[in-house]
Amino acid sequence: MQYVSTRGSAPVLGFADVVLAGLATDGGLYVPQSWPSLPENLTGTYAELAAAIFEPYLGGNISNETMLRLTREAYATFRHPDVVPIVDLEPGHKLMELFHGPTLAFKDVALQLLGRIFDHLLTERSEKVTIVGATSGDTGSAAIDGVKNCANVDIVILYPKGRVSEVQRRQMTTIDSPNVRTVAIDGTFDDCQDLVKAMFNDAPFREKHNLSAVNSINWARVMAQVVYYVEATRRLGGPIDVTVPTGNFGNVLSGWIAKQMGAPIRRLVVASNENDILTRFFESQNMNVTGVHPTLSPSMDIQVSSNFERFLFEMNGRDGGMTASQLQRFRDRGLLAVEPDQYEKWVTPTFGAGRANDHDTLATMRSVYEETGMQLDPHTAVGVKVAREHAEDGVPMLTMATAHPAKFPDAVERATGVRPELPEHLADLLSRPERTNDLPNDLAAVEAFVANR
Ligand SMILES: *Cc1c(COP(=O)(O)O)cnc(C)c1O
Repeated sequence: MQYVSTRGSAPVLGFADVVLAGLATDGGLYVPQSWPSLPENLTGTYAELAAAIFEPYLGGNISNETMLRLTREAYATFRHPDVVPIVDLEPGHKLMELFHGPTLAFKDVALQLLGRIFDHLLTERSEKVTIVGATSGDTGSAAIDGVKNCANVDIVILYPKGRVSEVQRRQMTTIDSPNVRTVAIDGTFDDCQDLVKAMFNDAPFREKHNLSAVNSINWARVMAQVVYYVEATRRLGGPIDVTVPTGNFGNVLSGWIAKQMGAPIRRLVVASNENDILTRFFESQNMNVTGVHPTLSPSMDIQVSSNFERFLFEMNGRDGGMTASQLQRFRDRGLLAVEPDQYEKWVTPTFGAGRANDHDTLATMRSVYEETGMQLDPHTAVGVKVAREHAEDGVPMLTMATAHPAKFPDAVERATGVRPELPEHLADLLSRPERTNDLPNDLAAVEAFVANR
């Protein structure tokens, strides 16, 4: 299996090079040359299922035996025997809890594995890398936890100052490992993401520090997330509909890939908060940029969804040149439109979309608590609100529960009147000492920090 860039002018690479590179040299994202089918045998543990699904993507770069060891280690860090348990919410509507990993959000599913894949590949090559990433909260803590014990990886994570929750911030700033740095940027998440992209586009800098990415553009993350969609259909049968609280379009893209591989998923419903650029696209065939608006679901407060580029490439018949010029126009004018025939082929049969504002989010958290006693985190609540609007009789609806309620205690307490408790392994989080660095939204300052760390 080889991988091509969505912008068509970067070298074709194998799995190991794609994972270590993150972004392609032409600014595009790597995708496999074709979508393989699911393995015929879908039995075994979650870790065994994962290794079987990954096999065609690895192109022999990692042996099946090694991959099975890595998936077993990664998913042993999850605190539930099912790894991603499914629970009943209401008739015809279930939740898949993706938050039983070390940092309480779904990103652990990918990043516990990615850290281990990185360390394995780097050890084989006797190389070291510097991971630079931007986070709106959950990616940073999950990435740091995923690599905190890796000998061959240094990590620098940028987060928007004052725009991540206290629990999210502390999960990053209290990790006391010599290879971990956190930076509070005076700006938004998109500013942080732009700084990371600019560092990658600075070729001499990128090469000197052997930069690598773990944010949601990394192919291995998208691949790792495919597994729980397959797991959902393995447990529930199919066809099912799945609603996904969405920001960078990474999670729901993995669901789309699972469907391409043959998992019996009927519809994928994209759930946005007030930062609803994707929902507006799925409703109108037009993507246009507005400002970022802070909400109760900060991990979905984004302006431009980076992983959407992978889907756009498919809609363009895998034409990288066309995708690159479309994205250039989008950057220049803030507007992207697709043709009606592309939309009818790729979007109409598969995608639904909806939105929830903060009022809806709180009301959903409250109604679920009153009806079931269950506390939802605000991201999951956005999904539940939209799922309820899209549920159809006879087709089971599954909403992806992307964070543990204790990761967002203020919003949960505001909605339900009860402050959710952190699980035992994080009980003393609020008293652990913090280490962080404040920097302006300025590329030169951030590059100097990375160089001198
Ligand atoms: C990252 C995140 C999301 C959004 O996921 P994308 O892959 O960016 O669409 C939703 N909910 C939570 C809790 C998250 O951490």
